[in-house]
Amino acid sequence: MNITKIELTAFRNLSQLSMEPCSTVNIIYGDNAQGKTNLMEALWLLSGARSFRGARDADLVSFGQENARVCAQFYKGQREQEAEIRFGGKKSAWLNGIQLDSAAKLAGGFCAVVFSPSHLGLIKDGPGERRKFLDTSICQLTPRYIDTLASFSRVLQQRNSLLKDISYSSFLLDTLDIWDEKLASLSAAVSWARERYARRLAEAAAGIYSGISMEKESFTASYARSGMGPGPWEGPEQLREAYREAIAASRGEDLRSGATGVGPHRDDLEILLDGKSARSFGSQGQQRSSVLALKLGEARCMREILGEEPVILLDDVMSELDGGRREYLLNHLAGSQIFITCCDRGYFSSLTQGKSFHMQGGEVLQCESYSAG
Ligand code: ATP
Ligand code: MG
Repeated sequence: MNITKIELTAFRNLSQLSMEPCSTVNIIYGDNAQGKTNLMEALWLLSGARSFRGARDADLVSFGQENARVCAQFYKGQREQEAEIRFGGKKSAWLNGIQLDSAAKLAGGFCAVVFSPSHLGLIKDGPGERRKFLDTSICQLTPRYIDTLASFSRVLQQRNSLLKDISYSSFLLDTLDIWDEKLASLSAAVSWARERYARRLAEAAAGIYSGISMEKESFTASYARSGMGPGPWEGPEQLREAYREAIAASRGEDLRSGATGVGPHRDDLEILLDGKSARSFGSQGQQRSSVLALKLGEARCMREILGEEPVILLDDVMSELDGGRREYLLNHLAGSQIFITCCDRGYFSSLTQGKSFHMQGGEVLQCESYSAG
């Protein structure tokens, strides 16, 4: 998909902004605190997701104003469309003039993938961030996974409560079998879906990482199940059987600790660069490149599975990347509409096709077009 026009009113420091991006690479540049990330945040919100900065809706409205408006016209599914969100008081959202029940319903209507420095936690932090990343992507691609995941979390929580209760009401032990059975089924469903998606994502991300690093480094990602044998399992049925056995084997320890030791809540997406852990041994630039490869890989999977290319929002990616890596982002992601923010013109001197927008004090001062040849 392709955004053709953006209009913002009273969104953070962007009091009145109108811009017409191009269908390839759009650079938003300017000094610190001018509103570049605010613009990316506004576009991201149109995808129905929450702010990647964890902001409350009230914080999005310009100081001293009551309402903010974010609107984009875009081309998707071979037709012109329009998405709009208003903040202040009750948040409301529209798609093509029709009011939606909630802003979250914009998901799927407006597709985007975002990278911001806060996403570096995907490599730097513990496995929880990577599980969340896989789950969020799968929910977008397969909406029925939302229910599977919610059921799994509920059963896990109830089993954990029961494990604690059993320590002082031993007669409850008889009821544990039912929860173990449910847990085995849901663990298999969640972990099967994650592994299948992880395989697809890993392939896309490896190709992108190879491009970013000019084929000098190799990236691999694989779904790692905690407390389970090496597999492989032929299908979800066999995996469920394996979970049954693993849960039964860890029952004694679970009762002692009051927590479930085996299941997808302990799994990880293991990321290696040239065979070594990206988290423990990757440089700043390599970690940034790895997150980018995962995010761009996610975009590629969305295109393959949903048949729609999401808009790619890259906030502050350029710092810590060398010239070759920057050049790849600027000129080798053909087919996607990309927005990249940076502080300095020097960061995009190798741009061959696209537009740049100079942002100052919440306004676009200057717009330049670039074309090859
Ligand atoms: P950097 O290069 O440092 O990342 P940036 O251009 O991305 O800078 P933004 O994060 O977009 O900067 O923020 C620009 C300004 O927006 C900040 O100075 C901040 O104080 C201001 N701002 C944030 N929220 C609001 C709001 N609700 N109303 C008015 N201004 C706001
Ligand atoms: Mg910023």
